[in-house]
Amino acid sequence: MSEGGEVITSGNRGILARRAESVASATGLRYAPIAVSRGRGAKVFDVEGREFIDLLSSAATANTGHCHPTVVSAILAQAADLIHYTPVYMHHEPLVALAEQLIELAPGKFEKRVAFGVSGADANDRAIKYSRAHTKRPKLVSFLGSYYGTTYGALSLSALTLSMRRHLGPTLPEVYHIPYPNCFRCPLQLDYPECEEACWEVTRQLYFDRVIPPEEVAAVFVEPIQGDAGIVVPPSFFLPALREFCNQHGILLVADEVQTGFGRTGRWFGVEHWDIAPDVMVVGKAIASGVPLSALVARREILEALSASGADLQTFAANPIACQAALATIAVLKDEELVARSERLGRHAKDRFSDMKRKHELIGDVRGKGLCIGVDLVQDRCTRRPAAKEALKVCWFCYTHGVLLTTLNQSVLRFQPPLVIEEDDLDLALDVIEAAIADISAGKIPDSAIQDFTGW
Ligand code: PMP
Repeated sequence: MSEGGEVITSGNRGILARRAESVASATGLRYAPIAVSRGRGAKVFDVEGREFIDLLSSAATANTGHCHPTVVSAILAQAADLIHYTPVYMHHEPLVALAEQLIELAPGKFEKRVAFGVSGADANDRAIKYSRAHTKRPKLVSFLGSYYGTTYGALSLSALTLSMRRHLGPTLPEVYHIPYPNCFRCPLQLDYPECEEACWEVTRQLYFDRVIPPEEVAAVFVEPIQGDAGIVVPPSFFLPALREFCNQHGILLVADEVQTGFGRTGRWFGVEHWDIAPDVMVVGKAIASGVPLSALVARREILEALSASGADLQTFAANPIACQAALATIAVLKDEELVARSERLGRHAKDRFSDMKRKHELIGDVRGKGLCIGVDLVQDRCTRRPAAKEALKVCWFCYTHGVLLTTLNQSVLRFQPPLVIEEDDLDLALDVIEAAIADISAGKIPDSAIQDFTGW
């Protein structure tokens, strides 16, 4: 916060105002009112040089931290040689080298191919095309609460908020949404494991016996941990049961690892927690430490279904700078053992949040794996009604104390720092969150504080 205590400082205000006058408002969400100008490791700096600990990692993109020197060098070297040549017409080595590495890293001991894209959304759209082309089936199944991006295919699969869908129909036909096993807010109001997996049984009876003929389904799309729904971790039976169901009916299992990939959850990919291999894996975000790149890594026969047809051409797919950034990202994750670090620091952070939960009724649930943690705030622990206003107050308090924090699905604090975060910074950020929760619980933060925070 500036000396005068204003929420938006003058250096940032001008840039925010210019954005509001020139850029469509639907392209952003309102959180900390700062213009970021520099990033190093787990820290970012605004245009006035103020320092913040970043708990958002640019939406789970900066797993190796901001501007890791190895990644920066790879980008600079490639940019000096060749900025781009489209793989639609010519070939280059970085895209081949990266495809080979992704095939090595992805779960599943079967022959694979890779198809590159630019964003998580376009990769999901293309997973729809390949799934339909390979199976010759029309139907797609996805989950309530899921988020796959905002292009039309990805939007059709997503079911997170009405504001993302309103006035945008018709979306893609033949897409069905079934319940995701959300144990904290179980629609059947049962507890795991006493429920004996009732949600999956009910889903099968309600949907697959009555509405969706399984033999017409091309693919089930699933996030191994639902990210934007609020870091919803499924119970242990779920992903293996889903894998088994898909096997029985010849349905492809598409795992969206856009948010959970590249060490975020303490494994290279989220599905590894349940020891399953999807038929198609969708990756993006952290793959190139912030340079736009996405990929499908899938069984060979699926990605050969559109063979030489020209049905998956993109001028900017597999840009060589992005591929080099991805190769450097993978090298850094390996050399600095960041996947194991994510698990270790994640365990520590979860312990601290669990300790806060014991002290403060405001915290209803702490969940996640590795450095992918959601802290769900509730108005009271019986109804579990989401405490959205309180969650924004935590973000405001953190912002004014040099920590960038955002929410997911209204009431869930999104805790996804870069995997390189220093342990002291991690504890400092956790101290600030704890102080925020204590102040809010004591009624010390007025509603007016967040009006200024979000009302610019
Ligand atoms: N899938 C998941 C699981 C995501 O979390 C996101 C982004 N939040 C996307 C897809 C969309 O990625 P992009 O914004 O790169 O299109």
